[in-house]
Amino acid sequence: MQTVNPQTILKEKFGYDNFRAGQLDVINKVLAHKHALAIMPTGGGKSITYQLPAMMFDGITLVISPLISLMKDQVDGLNTTGIPATFLNSTVDGQEQAQRMSDLRHGVYKMLYVAPERLEVPSFFSFVQSLNIELIAVDEAHVLSQWGHDFRPSYLNILPLLEQIPGHHALLGLTATATERVRENLQQLLQVTDENTVLTGFARDNLALKIIHNQDKRKYVVEYLRKNSDQTGIIYAATRKQVDELTTYLNKIGIKAARYHAGLSEKERQSQQEDFLYDESPVIVATNAFGMGINKPNVRYVIHYSVPGNIEAYYQEIGRAGRDGLPAEAILLYAPQDMHLQEFFVQKSEGSEEHKQNEYDKIREMNAFANTQTCLVRYLLQYFGETVTKDCGHCSNCLDTREWVNVTVDAQKVLANVIRMNQRFGKTMVAKVLKGSNDASIRKYEFLRELPTFGLMKERTLKELTRFIDYLTAEGYLQFEGAEFPVLKVTSSGAEVLKGQKTIQKRLEKIRIVSQSMNSD
Ligand code: ADP
Repeated sequence: MQTVNPQTILKEKFGYDNFRAGQLDVINKVLAHKHALAIMPTGGGKSITYQLPAMMFDGITLVISPLISLMKDQVDGLNTTGIPATFLNSTVDGQEQAQRMSDLRHGVYKMLYVAPERLEVPSFFSFVQSLNIELIAVDEAHVLSQWGHDFRPSYLNILPLLEQIPGHHALLGLTATATERVRENLQQLLQVTDENTVLTGFARDNLALKIIHNQDKRKYVVEYLRKNSDQTGIIYAATRKQVDELTTYLNKIGIKAARYHAGLSEKERQSQQEDFLYDESPVIVATNAFGMGINKPNVRYVIHYSVPGNIEAYYQEIGRAGRDGLPAEAILLYAPQDMHLQEFFVQKSEGSEEHKQNEYDKIREMNAFANTQTCLVRYLLQYFGETVTKDCGHCSNCLDTREWVNVTVDAQKVLANVIRMNQRFGKTMVAKVLKGSNDASIRKYEFLRELPTFGLMKERTLKELTRFIDYLTAEGYLQFEGAEFPVLKVTSSGAEVLKGQKTIQKRLEKIRIVSQSMNSD
């Protein structure tokens, strides 16, 4: 191993003066040939934690990455920095492949990038076993965890293989997904101790988070893009159809936008991505298929046109804005129907019941986040297990100037009603009883119309009631239980409200009084 110190290499090879939080810590563990886990936010600088040791080791660093489409860019980037690296995947033809393998045997390269599937090819795996591997880096490691947001069960097949790679090598898992469950799962899968797990802060102070409710989304986007026409950004939509429709519309009205989703040919995806990366198109409208591994430093905004299915994906996607450290915005356009779309995706997905349950829970957590009125950054960081002492001061909740009103009595009505309904019904039914609805779903359960809480909030619209229930859930007074058709339960915090031991504040909202004959909106 080279004796130059990491700081010198950071400066000489990468051109940076200082390590970012956690980087040196990870590097030291890797240099000591440990099994380590690096959990850092998107844009936090994970790559250097294996690229730098790769420069110091005599042996080869094997990088396992699911991002085939980006391998070439990554490797080209390393080669221009003077780090001899190569990749082997299906895009490399036979002759070139043989050449690269021979060069690897002769110590020409310090780094080899491969996709996980490739290791499962026996002849290739024997080749890997014949190399002097000193570090195995597993990028985007959360795909290995069933609790992660992008679980790929087949990737678990690589774990027993890694154990069969000879030599005293380090193993480094890297991810931006930091829920405790995923972390513990990865520690177990990759055999990493707590001591060798490096978790850095998730705060991205330059990102201003905004959640916008009840807006005409398309109109909002058009106005935003016109106002920020000199900026570049990403718009995430939930489906390919949404991507196509929005892109077509934007281009029609003269706003140049690229598009990206898995339904496009490889060639078109590549060219659309390049248009965006090289600023030909200031905007790219994409599904979540876009962005993993994308390193465009000057993305000034990320707009979610539809609510993502979980907080991890949301966090990862907004992390693509402001990688250069300059101010950037992350805007979530919220509509309650978006949650149904996400539920539909889970319903149609394959996977065990346990996995689906987990996905449904994640959708509810995302919905809660979108409906909270506490500081969004605080909420997010607490979700990732960080203790936060102060509000960010620049998210849409911190900047909300509406006055706080005491809604304890209204909350007590809702909570009491949930209890009266035996905590056996979902959000819509709870809202309908409070509204005093008389539709077939209510008539099916005779006792509901007999309840003292039936029609107790009839002056509210159903929409207002479900929104208020979402609010009470977001703030932890109610919780959902169950998978596809979850029921509402009162939490211990909600019980305190019912007993008058706690009051609830909420931002003042315009309340529409509707005539009593209307029983739905
Ligand atoms: P991640 O993989 O964690 O999302 P990257 O490794 O792609 O992040 O790094 C994000 C950006 O930060 C890159 O442009 C990278 O060059 C830059 N970067 C990494 N480490 C440092 C550092 N110590 N100082 C300044 N910039 C850094």
